[in-house]
Amino acid sequence: MSVLVLVFMAGCGQQSGQTLEADTGSNSPGPQTASASQASPAHWTYEDDAGPEHWGELDEDYLACKNGTEQSPIDINHSQLTASNSLKPVEVHYGKTEANIQNNGHTIQVTLKDNKNYIMLDGTKFTLAQFHFHHPSEHQIDGQKADMELHFVHKSEDGKTAVLGVLIKNGSENKAFGNVWSSMPAKETEEAVELEGTIDLASMLPANLHSIRYSGSLTTPPCTEGVSWTVLDNPIEMSQAQIDQFAVIFSDNHRPVQPLGERKVMNIK
Ligand SMILES: [Zn+2]
Repeated sequence: MSVLVLVFMAGCGQQSGQTLEADTGSNSPGPQTASASQASPAHWTYEDDAGPEHWGELDEDYLACKNGTEQSPIDINHSQLTASNSLKPVEVHYGKTEANIQNNGHTIQVTLKDNKNYIMLDGTKFTLAQFHFHHPSEHQIDGQKADMELHFVHKSEDGKTAVLGVLIKNGSENKAFGNVWSSMPAKETEEAVELEGTIDLASMLPANLHSIRYSGSLTTPPCTEGVSWTVLDNPIEMSQAQIDQFAVIFSDNHRPVQPLGERKVMNIK
């Protein structure tokens, strides 16, 4: 079965399963599953000894988590943005699609069945592979966290990663997430299951797509750098009941903000 899945994904021109999962860690079995394979990446969590402060010590492959200089997330300080006249606004080409859903132990992840949805970042096409959620938000705006954050993870043909981040704040019920929310597995699942119905990706975004852009990393081990981050200025809303429903499963699955260092955060016109 897994061989068939891999063949199917290769046929879609997408990356391997591991790469698809990159922003949320691997799809490896949980710690209870004894695995003889030394190639298995170390188990990590959002708290205690395997939490974010220790990720860099858990596995050689996670060294970027502590030694990296361009890590994500960051605090987006609006008084310190760099105005860009050359970068173009992100072009989002999202439509209706079918998907699979999984609780991978770190988040709820929705993986698309097709590769028709994409963004354009300054002439480069990045195809949407999956989206997932953090509670509370990972990026901060002027020192403030939002209730949640949605990450749309994309890959370019040459293997580069671009993530579109959307903050979520408490407000009206958001029907765009209806079938995702009604299908969220409460416990970690080994396999993704089919999401009933279709999802309308465009309706998951705010009307105004004004964004900032910066160069960062995956926010989960192995914290790989070279990720192009686009964070939308405008949040979307979910009801407190929707936020609570996610929080019951993941009370805290955010990585704290990382030093900006030498980087500039670009304000796109
Ligand atoms: Zn994420």
